[in-house]
Amino acid sequence: MASGPVVRAALGLGGNIGEPVAAMARALQALDARADTTVTAVSRLYRTPPWGKTDQAWFFNACALVETALQPEALLDVGLDIERSMKRERIERWGPRTIDIDVLLWGDASIASERLTVPHPRMTDRAFVLKPLADILPDGVTGGRTVATWLAAVDRAGIEIADPDSGWWRRA
Ligand code: ATP
Ligand code: CA
Ligand code: CA
Repeated sequence: MASGPVVRAALGLGGNIGEPVAAMARALQALDARADTTVTAVSRLYRTPPWGKTDQAWFFNACALVETALQPEALLDVGLDIERSMKRERIERWGPRTIDIDVLLWGDASIASERLTVPHPRMTDRAFVLKPLADILPDGVTGGRTVATWLAAVDRAGIEIADPDSGWWRRA
């Protein structure tokens, strides 16, 4: 397993079919159970209107910070493995899914490989990412602005707090 110095990474989680909250909670528990990764902060749980492809069910979304010894592509693969273990099927882009785990930030790194772009290129357009991320990393800087500043610039209409307790993922 590729590993190195411990880096703080930010993850975005979401889902809108099956039991998305349970899937997101299990995903965070699985990450935290790894010897190379610790979940250090989790946002509140949000209910968000669909983005991009709007004729589908509302999503649940959250963000988490992890301290990880995994290299960025290895962290991506861990997330994709967890998605597969929860039987996510990729049917259409931005379509319904049981769980989605995106690597938003990996330290201060900028990465553009065939499989991975970090910071996540669409995160600064998305209230469903920025709102939960602002719970745990409001002063984090990406693209020259803080998360809180990006959040103030996007349309947050419809976003609701589904669980105000950031411990939701340990109970589900
Ligand atoms: P979006 O990336 O716009 O949020 P999505 O999450 O629905 O869309 P997926 O089908 O989950 O897209 O992912 C498609 C591919 O995106 C993944 O297989 C992965 O290789 C690639 N990818 C590139 N950058 C990232 C990133 N930062 N986090 C997660 N996946 C990424
Ligand atoms: Ca995504
Ligand atoms: Ca994804």
